[in-house]
Amino acid sequence: MLTSESIKKFAKDVLKVDKVGIANIERFKDAPPDMSPYNIMPEAKSVIVFVQRILRGCYRGIEEGTHWPSYQAFGYSGLNGLIAKTCYRLGRFVEDNGYEAVPVPTSAALREFGPRGPSPKPGMPPREITMNIRIAATLAGVGEIGWSKVFMTEEFGPRQRIGVILTDAKLEPDPIVTGNLCDHCKACVRECPGCALPKDKSVSIEVEGHKIEWCDIDLGKCKLTHFGLNRKSSPHFVKHFPGVYMPIEEQEVTWLEAWNLGWGLFSQVPTYKALSDHPVPICGARGCIIGCMKHLEKKGTVKNKFKAAKVFSEKKPWELLERPPHVEHHGFVYDPKYRTSEDGKNKFAPPQDWY
Ligand code: SF4
Ligand code: SF4
Repeated sequence: MLTSESIKKFAKDVLKVDKVGIANIERFKDAPPDMSPYNIMPEAKSVIVFVQRILRGCYRGIEEGTHWPSYQAFGYSGLNGLIAKTCYRLGRFVEDNGYEAVPVPTSAALREFGPRGPSPKPGMPPREITMNIRIAATLAGVGEIGWSKVFMTEEFGPRQRIGVILTDAKLEPDPIVTGNLCDHCKACVRECPGCALPKDKSVSIEVEGHKIEWCDIDLGKCKLTHFGLNRKSSPHFVKHFPGVYMPIEEQEVTWLEAWNLGWGLFSQVPTYKALSDHPVPICGARGCIIGCMKHLEKKGTVKNKFKAAKVFSEKKPWELLERPPHVEHHGFVYDPKYRTSEDGKNKFAPPQDWY
């Protein structure tokens, strides 16, 4: 017989997930139509949510300013790949017991792409429904959303990724617990290199008496920085576009504009392309995850402890100059050392050591 207990036992003992919780579907009854699990699986009765931790060490290289691939490979796309496999295996367990399982992928924010339609099935909202998996994880009692909008647990603070399965099995739900993890210290706001997190503007919903609140993040600024187009936190961008000055805090772009710009430029930067074929998290979540993690670890409230207490520095993180330091280049070569003369004696070619 499929029960909450048997699902949790399988998820923890066999699939080695870090934490799992269950919500009854009624908790989602007020979700907007294009985010509602009812519109993905009208017969759904329960939402199963699990998390897998992001290894703390994945952030080490970016913190040191020396190594970006670890976070991309093991803390971001790679971990999302593992979440997808775990969703599949947990879904198979549910279906082996005679109930349907709909794994909901950790997809891009499809609703940000704008209006969709027409709907192929009359009476249903336009495709593609995108659930907010952080709200789902909160409603399943796994943890709560912090001010930064990152999902937090008492075990790992802001360090985890989320998997979601909808099922028509009626399962015992876990209680919702809020107000315990985020203390509104705003370290995430101070350390976000994209100036994407406001300190006093928020969004909130209420479910079963729980107020779930997060800051009204500027998704355009976040996405520009996340995709590595922010000079302050991207040595890759500075190296490839040394003369470009794009102060992120002054950009008024939508998530979609930032997304398109990132996709347009990403493949042009060799060091980005070496990391992945698609834009990857160059900013290293230095405000919303690392800043928060440092704060919570210092406070001693994260259960996942480390022997070396202060491995991550408490000093202000490194930051590159936002404005290009070059004084004049006349549109040809950036560094006076490599200036091309008009008589052609000097070569107009990037130096060998440029990349
Ligand atoms: S750093 Fe973490 S605990 Fe502090 S306000 Fe941000 S989300 Fe909350
Ligand atoms: S991903 Fe980067 S830019 Fe976006 S909120 Fe986090 S620290 Fe700021």
